[in-house]
Amino acid sequence: MAENARHYCIAIAHQPTELQTRAALVEEFKWTVGTQVNVQFVGGEESLQERVRAVAEEWVGPDMANVGLQFGGAGRGDVRVAFLEGDGSWSYIGTVAQQIDVDQPTMNYGWLTPDSPDDELRRVVLHEFGHALGLIHEHQNPNQPIQWNRDAVIADLSGPPNNWGPQTIENNIFARYDPATLESTPVDPDSIMMYPIPASWTTDGFSVGLNRELSSTDTDFIKKAYPW
Ligand SMILES: [Zn+2]
Repeated sequence: MAENARHYCIAIAHQPTELQTRAALVEEFKWTVGTQVNVQFVGGEESLQERVRAVAEEWVGPDMANVGLQFGGAGRGDVRVAFLEGDGSWSYIGTVAQQIDVDQPTMNYGWLTPDSPDDELRRVVLHEFGHALGLIHEHQNPNQPIQWNRDAVIADLSGPPNNWGPQTIENNIFARYDPATLESTPVDPDSIMMYPIPASWTTDGFSVGLNRELSSTDTDFIKKAYPW
């Protein structure tokens, strides 16, 4: 559990073949309001798939986003969910998933198993499906930028369990989005899309714990992004 909490998610807003990784045009990657997004599992035990589905659906429905998540069925899957151990947790952002080869997953849970506790599963699944609906990492919100202690962040994330290279760290931590490409709110430290941030990673003592639920801002925001 403590180890998993130090595992960070990678959100991918570009196609794997592209070198340009800063252009996270989230507006561009939003699903059309009212779309039924087909979700297919690629592996994983049925009990685990069912738990993921139940949590993912908290994002959508009459009181939430006006987007459907249709699990299973005959489609090839707009979103394809894998459970490849050791591959970390990651997701493409919104409709970028539709640009990925159909034999490739678009979302992965690298450490969830049928034995994973509910709170851990909720934390990770709510977060990754936030990406699938087009949300970026809250720490890359361009409003009120976080004052990173770059050396400390790089030292931590270069090592296990993440073992990220410099470009991955740049893209997933330090890069900020162009406000013109986003709908955004002031920074919400309680957002499910916020990374846990130890105080040692910032120069002003700012820190974030392990968020496990949708914040009220997350809920308001997704309703505005996908209105009924
Ligand atoms: Zn993420």
